[in-house]
Amino acid sequence: MSETIVALATPKGESALATIRVSGDLSKEFMNHCFCIPHPTPRNCYLAHFRDARGEKIDEVIVAYFEKGKSFTGEEMLEISCHGNLLIIETIIRDLIRRGGVNASPGEFTKRAFLSGKIDLIQAESIAEIIAAQNFDDVILARKNLAGNLSSIIKDLQNKIIRIQAFVEAFIDFPEDDIGSQSYDSINILLRDCKKVTERLIEGFERRSHLKSKFKVLLIGEPNAGKSTLFNALIGYDRAIVSESPGTTRDYISKDLNLGKFLIELIDTAGIRDTPVSTESMGVSNSLNLIRESDIILFVFDSTLPYPAEMMSECYQNVSGQSVIMVKNKQDLKSNVNSYPFPKNSAIIEISAKNHKGIEELVSSIITVLNKSKTTNTDLDVLVNLRHKNCLEHILLSLNNACELLSDSEDDLLIIDELKSALLELNQMVSPTDNESMLDSLFANFCIGK
Ligand code: GDP
Repeated sequence: MSETIVALATPKGESALATIRVSGDLSKEFMNHCFCIPHPTPRNCYLAHFRDARGEKIDEVIVAYFEKGKSFTGEEMLEISCHGNLLIIETIIRDLIRRGGVNASPGEFTKRAFLSGKIDLIQAESIAEIIAAQNFDDVILARKNLAGNLSSIIKDLQNKIIRIQAFVEAFIDFPEDDIGSQSYDSINILLRDCKKVTERLIEGFERRSHLKSKFKVLLIGEPNAGKSTLFNALIGYDRAIVSESPGTTRDYISKDLNLGKFLIELIDTAGIRDTPVSTESMGVSNSLNLIRESDIILFVFDSTLPYPAEMMSECYQNVSGQSVIMVKNKQDLKSNVNSYPFPKNSAIIEISAKNHKGIEELVSSIITVLNKSKTTNTDLDVLVNLRHKNCLEHILLSLNNACELLSDSEDDLLIIDELKSALLELNQMVSPTDNESMLDSLFANFCIGK
């Protein structure tokens, strides 16, 4: 009989709802004792009162019972949605512990799902990856891993290597037959095929590690051009200090926000100008440094004023390869200024930050730039993480060795050894049930309730 684990699956704190998860053999007993539902219909939602051991009503909740074999963990499970009040949550959990449950360790629900064979290790990892993903592309890839895309590629590799092994073993059993040219070709084709797939997966990891999950978008321009007003318009609420006297944003402030499927860090800098105020000059040099580190630079202009040629030339000395968008602000005001001498092919957006006009156009032009600059890994529909990559490198090494041994007509037993070690490593990738310490450290990185 497994211990029945209990944990809060949603973040701690005040919220409309909170979900408590239970997994183990006491689940049905809890349904009876806490909710007076002795014979629950599996995967049915019940509106019921949670009663503690003294029969006291604690909260009105929605509870669902999942039968053995058809739950996330493979064990009997409960999901209790109560009101998101810590007192209620703690009272319910304490009561379930008193009735025989135990507090779940981090990742224990997912670990049980893995150990019961409901999911393999790649799928277990993908759950943490879905939750931690910082952009939607990662969410989609992690979801595909959860659906088993990477696992099936690995299974396919395993099958091919087992076939190669069978071919080679046939020659060991009948040593009088040399590996004939036809069989040699079949083995060679299969081996090279496996190598190609392994290399592509490793490449997928390398490419992804160069991909950014967050892009820096910098607002820069002369004091009073309207950077802070634009910053606020973009983030949708007031955070930067908007002031009428030039030079108030001494350093820079930043805020993460989602534009379309991209996560960006929007940075509001200090105004660029010569100034005797020391803190502000520090801010100015920071701004120039930030230009070098940013992915997109939004030059903000007060379009009622002449083109700030000096500032632009100073800034442009620090621009090398970053995308630039010229933002002509204060379009709501009348201006006698002639057109600006922008560099050819500049992206120019006219806005009124104060009146929230042109903000959508600006956002879509930022998204267009991000879409262009992003190198997607279109050929790979899976997410390869560092642990997978390390396993894949060992597999590739064994496959390379096997290829060399084959072409040098070396002892067939040596080839078998290499194939076996590749198979062992593939197994480590998907279902290393015997590797307790690795599993412990992997699931320890999950949060409680996952
Ligand atoms: P920063 O120094 O570049 O950050 O400029 P602020 O955002 O602090 O704005 C300076 C002044 O310009 C403030 O009084 C703002 O209200 C004003 N301002 C900003 N954007 C606009 C705009 O689109 N139209 C008008 N009329 N005023 C603006």
